[in-house]
Amino acid sequence: MQLVRQNEKSAGNWHRSGVVVLAALLAAAVASGCAAEPDGGGTGAAGAPAKPAAGRSGEAAPQAGPARARDTYAETVRKKQAARAVAAKKWGLAKTPLAAPEPPKTKPLITTRKGFEVRNDKGLPPVFTTVPTKEKIVFLTMDDGAEKDPELLRMMTELSLPYSAFVSDYVINDDYGYFKEMQRRGVTISNHTLNHRYLPGLSYAEQKREICGQQEKILKNYGKRPTLFRPPYGNYNRDTLVVAKSCGITAVPLWSAEAFPDRMEWREWDRDLHPGDIVLTHFRGKDDWKGSMPDMIRRVMKTITDKGYAVAKLEDYV
Ligand SMILES: [Zn+2]
Repeated sequence: MQLVRQNEKSAGNWHRSGVVVLAALLAAAVASGCAAEPDGGGTGAAGAPAKPAAGRSGEAAPQAGPARARDTYAETVRKKQAARAVAAKKWGLAKTPLAAPEPPKTKPLITTRKGFEVRNDKGLPPVFTTVPTKEKIVFLTMDDGAEKDPELLRMMTELSLPYSAFVSDYVINDDYGYFKEMQRRGVTISNHTLNHRYLPGLSYAEQKREICGQQEKILKNYGKRPTLFRPPYGNYNRDTLVVAKSCGITAVPLWSAEAFPDRMEWREWDRDLHPGDIVLTHFRGKDDWKGSMPDMIRRVMKTITDKGYAVAKLEDYV
């Protein structure tokens, strides 16, 4: 019960600050006669510097660069939220997802979570379940890649919800195109090994093939070598991190909660979200789950929004 009260309070704060921002923004828009047309351009584009509104020179109120940039960002956020409210209704979300704050100018320093260290891990990629931040944001990550639901792509784009994909070649190699389209919509394709093996049971050479082999597959199919890697089942040893580093991995994000169409599973004792938490889910459908991927998104977004959190883009922080 106490949890619920706290959440209501947080949600109230969000709401109030939203109103203030909105009011300031409307005033700014009126003052500058601004009919800005900055295009959010799909998921994760919130951080892109928006172009100032077109207008004849001399018409716009004289304004310092940084202030003007802030107004334009706020305007982008306002438009995105309006579009989101429409999309939320269309896709049957209980509430409109909250707007994430502007991404940080510099990414936070991430270190390995206590209890997740390996022997002598200085210089190895950090293993973590939560990104250090004070903002009420969480990150959505989807693993494996068996289910390739076109509805998910449309839903996430229309809702402007960022997420990150950690793919295994053995389940995506029947349709690389699905993830190519996902990438085109702003999603980063990251490494989840070739064959989803239990890595601590493999030799160094076998792990190298699983991890670095997938780096090359992703480079070949998606044009970029990933920097993020997630070991299958969250299991790893020192060799895993040494191998991952050797082929370009800089960070190993695990998760602090897992989303299903009918429930959440929590890593933490308090069974709650925390600022910067990474939420895991999977590319799965009705064959494995009591629902579709859109059902899962509706369920996890209800939890996230009810608790006063926004979804941010992992790659803006890691
Ligand atoms: Zn997996």
